[in-house]
Amino acid sequence: MAVPKSRTSKKVKNQRRTHKKLHVPGMVECSNCGELTKSHHVCKSCGHYDGKEVVSK
Ligand SMILES: [Zn+2]
Repeated sequence: MAVPKSRTSKKVKNQRRTHKKLHVPGMVECSNCGELTKSHHVCKSCGHYDGKEVVSK
């Protein structure tokens, strides 16, 4: 079994898993209106998908 050569300092230990979640996974900005929508889904606010209007509002 692997044995750590030196003890991990409090600072290094506390720096683990501190990366703040900035982006919600699977969410992208709509190319038409800029609204945050699910990727590979029709935009809820404007009805666009892949640069085309799929659902007319
Ligand atoms: Zn949109």
